[in-house]
Amino acid sequence: PSDTGRVLSIQSHTVQGYVGNKSAVFPLQLLGYDVDPINSVQFSNHTGYPTFKGQVLNGQQLCDLIEGLEANDLLFYTHVLTGYIGSVSFLDTILEVINKLRAVNPNLTYVCDPVMGDEGKLYVPEELVHVYREKVVPLASMLTPNQFEAEKLTGLRINSEEDGREACAILHAAGPSKVVITSITIGGILLLIGSHQKEKGLKPEQFKILIHKIPAYFTGTGDLMTALLLGWSNKYPDNLDKAAELAVSTLQALLRRTLDDYKRAGYDPTSSSLEIRLIQSQEEIRNPNVELKAERY
Ligand code: ADP
Ligand code: PLP
Ligand code: ZN
Repeated sequence: PSDTGRVLSIQSHTVQGYVGNKSAVFPLQLLGYDVDPINSVQFSNHTGYPTFKGQVLNGQQLCDLIEGLEANDLLFYTHVLTGYIGSVSFLDTILEVINKLRAVNPNLTYVCDPVMGDEGKLYVPEELVHVYREKVVPLASMLTPNQFEAEKLTGLRINSEEDGREACAILHAAGPSKVVITSITIGGILLLIGSHQKEKGLKPEQFKILIHKIPAYFTGTGDLMTALLLGWSNKYPDNLDKAAELAVSTLQALLRRTLDDYKRAGYDPTSSSLEIRLIQSQEEIRNPNVELKAERY
C-alpha cells in the first residue's frame, strides 16, 4: 500500500456550499491524493435550502465520460468513492464502472457511502435500498453508513452498541472488510462504531469512539467523513481505529469552528442546516489533533 492514490469521486456538486464532491475533493487533495470528480448532479445549493435548481447526470452520460477516459487509457484508479445517488439507473451504471475499473486494477478499493436517509427518513426512491443491499454492498471495500442506513441494509433495529457491532458483522458477511457506522445516537451522545475484518471468516476487530453531540444540524458532514476515512485508512491500512480517530478529530474541530462563526455573525445555529467551514479548516484536515480516542472492544 502507498500513502497516496488516484481517486475517482462520483458525487454531487453544488455551486455554493459544501456537500458531495464539494466537501470531499478539497480534503482528499490536501491529504495528497489526485482526485478526479464526476459530478452526479450540479445544483445551485444543497437540498436543505428552501429551493434549489440544476441538472442531473444520467447513466448514459456517466458512461460517455468513462468511455472517453477508456479511449485514452486513463482508467487506472486506486480508489472509487461514491455518495448520494438518486436513481436505480445511475446506480446500475456505477456498478458497471466499478467492474470496469477492477478489470484494469484488481486492487481497486471501492469506498461506498450508501446515502439513503437520516433520522428515520428515506431521501432516495425505496427501490434503491434493494439495489444497495443486493448489488452494491457486495462490491464495496469500505462502507460508511449512518445509523438509519445500517438499519436499512441489515434489517436490524440499532438501539445499542451491541446492535451496531452486530450490524457491522452482518455487513462484513455481505462483502466489505471495513465498515464504519459514522454515528449512532444513544441518549444525546453520538457513537461511532468501526469494524475491520482482516480475513474472511475471522472475527472482526471492532472499536468505538464517543462523540459529544453539538446541538446543530450540519450538511455535508457525512460526505467529508467518508472522504477522510478513505484518505486516512489508505495511509494506515491495518489501523482503522487510528484512521477513524483522525477523521473524527478533523470533523470536531471543523464543526466547532463552523458553530463559532455562525454565532459570531449573530445566527441561531439551531435554526437551519449550517454550511461547514471547510476551507478555513485546512490545517485541521492536514494535521488533526487527536482528542477523541478509539476504544477497542
Ligand atoms: P451523515 O451526514 O451521513 O448522516 P453523520 O451524521 O454520521 O453522517 O456525520 C458524520 C460525522 O460528522 C460523525 O461521525 C461526527 O463525527 C460528525 N458530526 C455530524 N453531526 C454532528 C453533531 N451534531 N455533533 C458532533 N459531531 C457531528
Ligand atoms: N448531496 C446533495 C445535493 C445534498 O443536498 C446533500 C444534503 O443536503 C447531500 C449530498 C448529503 O449531505 P450529508 O453529507 O450531510 O449526508
Ligand atoms: Zn450520509
